[in-house]
Amino acid sequence: MTNSVDRETLLGFAQSFAGKSKCVDCQSLSCAGWESVPGGFLTNSLECIGTLRVEDAPECWEEDHPKGTTMWSKDAPISILFHPYNKSDVYECKHCGCKYLRYTECGGYYVDERIRELNGHLIT
Ligand SMILES: [Zn+2]
Repeated sequence: MTNSVDRETLLGFAQSFAGKSKCVDCQSLSCAGWESVPGGFLTNSLECIGTLRVEDAPECWEEDHPKGTTMWSKDAPISILFHPYNKSDVYECKHCGCKYLRYTECGGYYVDERIRELNGHLIT
């Protein structure tokens, strides 16, 4: 079973990487805001370390943008009770320890794996 991650734990994850440098794999990944996982990126270097999903929680598709950001903004807040963070898992790079959030967007005709770097300053 995947560990559930609360806000405190998430902040701890973010802080554990603060000030460290990324490995070559992670440097190739540019995802300060949400991005589709690039085709060439080897996601097997990322290890799931927890989930923000809450078992049996009511579905919430609302997004949290008090400062006029959009879901794609690099400075959009990371509000874990809101979409898409409430559907995200937390991953860690096995090489450098950089932390990421990932979720799968399921549209009518497509499935899109999305990834965003975990930035502790944006956690609300
Ligand atoms: Zn890395």
